[in-house]
Amino acid sequence: MRWLAKILLSAAPKARLVSRSAGASRLNGGLCAMQCAVVCLFVLLAGCRLLPHQLPVTEAHELPVGQLVFHSDFELPRDHRLVRELILERDDICTTLGIPATDEPIHVYLFHNADRYQEYLMRNFPTVPSRRAFFLETDTRLTVYAHWSDRVAEDLRHEIAHGYLHAALPNLPVWIDEGLAEYFEVPRGLGGLNQPHVALLSDSMTQDHWQPNLRRLESLTESGQMNQRDYAESWAWVYFLLHSPPEKRVLLTNYLVDLRASGTAQPISARLAAIKVSPEEPLTKYIATLSDETKTR
Ligand SMILES: [Zn+2]
Repeated sequence: MRWLAKILLSAAPKARLVSRSAGASRLNGGLCAMQCAVVCLFVLLAGCRLLPHQLPVTEAHELPVGQLVFHSDFELPRDHRLVRELILERDDICTTLGIPATDEPIHVYLFHNADRYQEYLMRNFPTVPSRRAFFLETDTRLTVYAHWSDRVAEDLRHEIAHGYLHAALPNLPVWIDEGLAEYFEVPRGLGGLNQPHVALLSDSMTQDHWQPNLRRLESLTESGQMNQRDYAESWAWVYFLLHSPPEKRVLLTNYLVDLRASGTAQPISARLAAIKVSPEEPLTKYIATLSDETKTR
């Protein structure tokens, strides 16, 4: 079987690789932060190299816990606080977004160091630049690959958020997918407030006269089209809507309900226009307020 994979890599902290063949698969990967070049690779992958169940991944330790199935080359304690947090993340996502939980397993392949992980990447994804973590969706399986590091918690919260979201929602637009993952990668208890994104957007507004543009984000089809600021803006829209009064909050939750029911939904920008809200100006002010608040903390 021959798979055509269109691989789009952004140097933003979180990027995705997308395949749109008949047996569609989707990869989202975390990259080293704040690199600036955008790399676009179009790779024809022969055979079944990208099929995760056929990858030679070490499975010395298997830990099924909740919806997650960890496969690791080291012993991961069931009661590790990161494991507990990742299990609780499902309820956080479902409660926050009003979507039902699913029981589709999310397989998490976890290597105990970067060398082991890089060795695996070189063997199985030789044309792909180094990534700290990535998420792979096929028609039958959801999988996360990552390695232990001082940023493993952030990486796993982000990639596993993709897993929970994709298990429940079809055809999630790239900007919402990444915006939600950036929201839920924030440690529990911080309410999704991604302070580096606030700082980046605030600086962009004051130094570059940057302004948010929701329709532009909605026009994006691949994460490879997204730079670091696009990830931050996607997060900002999600945060803005989720932390708005109910009439705006339901714009996002109703959007997800429609998407789950029919696989398609009227864009958020059109829903805002229908209630005569021009969202860019409120978001600009909101970011400025958030920036002031985070500076005084
Ligand atoms: Zn992502």
